[in-house]
Amino acid sequence: MASVLIALGGNVGDVRATFAKAIPMICGMTQAALTARSSDYATPPWGDEQQDRFINACIEIDTGLDPHALLFVLHRIEAKFGRDRKSERRWGPRPLDLDILTYDDVRFEKPGLTLPHPRLFERAFVLVPLAEIAPDRWIAGRTPSAVLADLNTTGIERLPPLT
Ligand code: ATP
Ligand code: CA
Ligand code: CA
Repeated sequence: MASVLIALGGNVGDVRATFAKAIPMICGMTQAALTARSSDYATPPWGDEQQDRFINACIEIDTGLDPHALLFVLHRIEAKFGRDRKSERRWGPRPLDLDILTYDDVRFEKPGLTLPHPRLFERAFVLVPLAEIAPDRWIAGRTPSAVLADLNTTGIERLPPLT
Protein backbone atom coordinates (compact mmCIF):
# COMPACT_ATOMS: atom_id res chain seq x y z
CA MET A 1 0.00 0.00 0.00
CA ALA A 2 1.16 3.53 -0.74
CA SER A 3 0.21 6.67 1.15
CA VAL A 4 -0.87 9.35 -1.31
CA LEU A 5 -1.75 13.01 -0.87
CA ILE A 6 -4.20 14.37 -3.45
CA ALA A 7 -5.25 17.99 -4.04
CA LEU A 8 -8.81 18.73 -5.13
CA GLY A 9 -9.86 21.98 -6.77
CA GLY A 10 -12.61 23.47 -8.86
CA ASN A 11 -14.61 26.62 -9.57
CA VAL A 12 -17.44 25.56 -11.89
CA GLY A 13 -20.75 24.23 -10.51
CA ASP A 14 -21.39 23.21 -6.90
CA VAL A 15 -17.78 22.29 -6.16
CA ARG A 16 -18.31 21.27 -2.54
CA ALA A 17 -21.02 18.85 -3.65
CA THR A 18 -18.64 17.60 -6.35
CA PHE A 19 -15.94 16.93 -3.72
CA ALA A 20 -18.46 15.14 -1.50
CA LYS A 21 -19.23 12.75 -4.37
CA ALA A 22 -15.73 12.55 -5.86
CA ILE A 23 -13.93 11.52 -2.65
CA PRO A 24 -15.86 8.25 -2.16
CA MET A 25 -15.53 7.67 -5.90
CA ILE A 26 -11.73 8.06 -5.66
CA CYS A 27 -11.62 5.53 -2.83
CA GLY A 28 -13.96 3.11 -4.61
CA MET A 29 -12.19 3.26 -7.97
CA THR A 30 -8.66 2.98 -6.51
CA GLN A 31 -9.48 0.38 -3.82
CA ALA A 32 -8.24 2.96 -1.33
CA ALA A 33 -8.91 3.83 2.26
CA LEU A 34 -9.41 7.49 3.11
CA THR A 35 -6.99 8.31 5.94
CA ALA A 36 -7.44 12.10 6.12
CA ARG A 37 -9.55 14.86 4.61
CA SER A 38 -9.00 18.59 5.08
CA SER A 39 -11.70 21.20 5.34
CA ASP A 40 -12.84 22.88 2.16
CA TYR A 41 -11.31 26.30 1.50
CA ALA A 42 -12.42 29.19 -0.69
CA THR A 43 -9.32 30.53 -2.45
CA PRO A 44 -8.49 33.33 -4.89
CA PRO A 45 -7.79 32.16 -8.47
CA TRP A 46 -4.09 31.57 -9.25
CA GLY A 47 -2.30 31.84 -12.57
CA ASP A 48 -5.35 33.34 -14.32
CA GLU A 49 -7.10 35.86 -12.10
CA GLN A 50 -10.03 36.57 -14.47
CA GLN A 51 -12.32 33.87 -13.06
CA ASP A 52 -14.39 32.91 -10.02
CA ARG A 53 -12.77 31.91 -6.76
CA PHE A 54 -11.91 28.25 -6.29
CA ILE A 55 -12.75 25.66 -3.69
CA ASN A 56 -9.73 23.57 -2.64
CA ALA A 57 -9.15 20.65 -0.31
CA CYS A 58 -6.65 17.84 0.24
CA ILE A 59 -7.08 14.19 1.09
CA GLU A 60 -4.78 11.35 2.04
CA ILE A 61 -5.48 7.80 0.87
CA ASP A 62 -3.83 4.41 1.11
CA THR A 63 -3.95 2.68 -2.25
CA GLY A 64 -2.41 -0.34 -3.97
CA LEU A 65 -2.48 1.33 -7.42
CA ASP A 66 0.80 2.49 -8.93
CA PRO A 67 1.17 6.24 -9.62
CA HIS A 68 0.27 6.13 -13.33
CA ALA A 69 -2.75 3.90 -12.79
CA LEU A 70 -3.89 6.23 -10.03
CA LEU A 71 -3.57 9.31 -12.26
CA PHE A 72 -5.51 7.51 -15.01
CA VAL A 73 -8.38 6.88 -12.58
CA LEU A 74 -8.28 10.46 -11.29
CA HIS A 75 -8.58 11.77 -14.86
CA ARG A 76 -11.60 9.52 -15.41
CA ILE A 77 -13.24 10.91 -12.30
CA GLU A 78 -12.53 14.50 -13.41
CA ALA A 79 -14.24 13.68 -16.70
CA LYS A 80 -17.28 12.26 -14.92
CA PHE A 81 -17.76 15.68 -13.34
CA GLY A 82 -17.55 17.45 -16.69
CA ARG A 83 -13.84 18.25 -16.98
CA ASP A 84 -12.84 18.64 -20.62
CA ARG A 85 -9.18 19.65 -21.05
CA LYS A 86 -9.59 20.17 -24.80
CA SER A 87 -11.95 23.10 -24.30
CA GLU A 88 -10.25 24.88 -21.39
CA ARG A 89 -7.46 27.39 -20.98
CA ARG A 90 -4.41 26.80 -18.79
CA TRP A 91 -5.25 27.29 -15.11
CA GLY A 92 -8.74 28.43 -16.19
CA PRO A 93 -12.20 27.50 -14.91
CA ARG A 94 -12.88 23.81 -14.30
CA PRO A 95 -15.39 21.72 -12.36
CA LEU A 96 -12.79 19.39 -10.84
CA ASP A 97 -9.00 19.12 -10.79
CA LEU A 98 -7.33 16.18 -9.03
CA ASP A 99 -3.55 16.38 -8.65
CA ILE A 100 -1.27 13.83 -7.03
CA LEU A 101 0.83 15.86 -4.60
CA THR A 102 2.92 13.00 -3.24
CA TYR A 103 3.05 9.23 -3.59
CA ASP A 104 4.99 7.76 -0.65
CA ASP A 105 8.47 9.25 -0.99
CA VAL A 106 8.59 8.71 -4.76
CA ARG A 107 10.47 11.35 -6.74
CA PHE A 108 10.48 11.20 -10.53
CA GLU A 109 9.83 13.25 -13.62
CA LYS A 110 8.19 11.21 -16.38
CA PRO A 111 6.07 12.19 -19.37
CA GLY A 112 2.66 13.02 -17.91
CA LEU A 113 3.57 12.60 -14.26
CA THR A 114 5.99 14.40 -11.93
CA LEU A 115 6.21 13.51 -8.24
CA PRO A 116 6.01 15.32 -5.94
CA HIS A 117 3.76 17.73 -7.86
CA PRO A 118 6.15 20.33 -9.32
CA ARG A 119 4.21 23.44 -8.29
CA LEU A 120 3.12 22.26 -4.86
CA PHE A 121 5.41 24.57 -2.89
CA GLU A 122 4.41 27.72 -4.80
CA ARG A 123 0.73 27.43 -3.97
CA ALA A 124 -0.85 28.59 -0.73
CA PHE A 125 -4.20 27.25 -1.99
CA VAL A 126 -2.69 23.74 -1.87
CA LEU A 127 -0.48 24.15 1.20
CA VAL A 128 -3.17 25.60 3.49
CA PRO A 129 -5.42 22.50 3.24
CA LEU A 130 -2.36 20.24 3.12
CA ALA A 131 -1.00 21.76 6.33
CA GLU A 132 -4.29 20.95 8.01
CA ILE A 133 -3.81 17.19 7.45
CA ALA A 134 -0.02 16.79 7.09
CA PRO A 135 1.76 19.87 8.50
CA ASP A 136 5.02 18.11 9.33
CA ARG A 137 5.26 15.66 6.42
CA TRP A 138 8.72 15.74 4.84
CA ILE A 139 8.24 16.27 1.12
CA ALA A 140 11.43 16.58 -0.91
CA GLY A 141 13.24 18.00 2.12
CA ARG A 142 10.57 20.48 3.19
CA THR A 143 7.36 20.51 5.22
CA PRO A 144 4.04 22.16 4.32
CA SER A 145 3.93 24.23 7.51
CA ALA A 146 7.45 25.61 7.05
CA VAL A 147 6.91 26.52 3.39
CA LEU A 148 3.53 28.06 4.16
CA ALA A 149 5.07 30.41 6.70
CA ASP A 150 6.71 32.27 3.78
CA LEU A 151 3.67 32.36 1.46
CA ASN A 152 0.91 34.93 1.20
CA THR A 153 -2.39 33.37 2.29
CA THR A 154 -4.52 36.48 1.79
CA GLY A 155 -8.07 35.66 0.74
CA ILE A 156 -7.95 31.98 1.68
CA GLU A 157 -10.96 31.17 3.82
CA ARG A 158 -11.72 27.93 5.65
CA LEU A 159 -15.33 26.93 5.10
CA PRO A 160 -17.50 25.37 7.81
CA PRO A 161 -18.44 21.71 7.29
CA LEU A 162 -21.51 21.10 5.16
CA THR A 163 -24.45 20.02 7.28
P1 ATP B 1 -0.98 22.25 -12.70
O1 ATP B 1 -0.30 20.95 -13.07
O2 ATP B 1 -0.09 23.45 -12.80
O3 ATP B 1 -1.69 22.15 -11.38
P2 ATP B 1 -3.45 21.78 -14.08
O4 ATP B 1 -3.76 20.87 -12.93
O5 ATP B 1 -4.43 22.82 -14.42
O6 ATP B 1 -2.06 22.51 -13.81
P3 ATP B 1 -3.98 19.74 -15.95
O7 ATP B 1 -4.50 20.12 -17.27
O8 ATP B 1 -4.96 19.20 -14.94
O9 ATP B 1 -3.15 20.96 -15.34
O10 ATP B 1 -2.86 18.65 -16.09
C1 ATP B 1 -1.88 18.73 -17.06
C2 ATP B 1 -1.05 17.45 -17.00
O11 ATP B 1 -0.24 17.44 -15.84
C3 ATP B 1 -1.86 16.20 -16.87
O12 ATP B 1 -2.26 15.72 -18.12
C4 ATP B 1 -0.90 15.24 -16.17
O13 ATP B 1 -0.42 14.26 -17.07
C5 ATP B 1 0.25 16.12 -15.76
N1 ATP B 1 0.81 15.87 -14.43
C6 ATP B 1 2.13 15.81 -14.16
N2 ATP B 1 2.37 15.58 -12.87
C7 ATP B 1 1.15 15.47 -12.27
C8 ATP B 1 0.74 15.21 -10.93
N3 ATP B 1 1.62 15.02 -9.94
N4 ATP B 1 -0.60 15.16 -10.67
C9 ATP B 1 -1.51 15.35 -11.68
N5 ATP B 1 -1.17 15.61 -12.97
C10 ATP B 1 0.14 15.66 -13.27
CA1 CA C 1 -3.71 21.49 -10.68
CA1 CA D 1 -4.37 18.68 -12.77
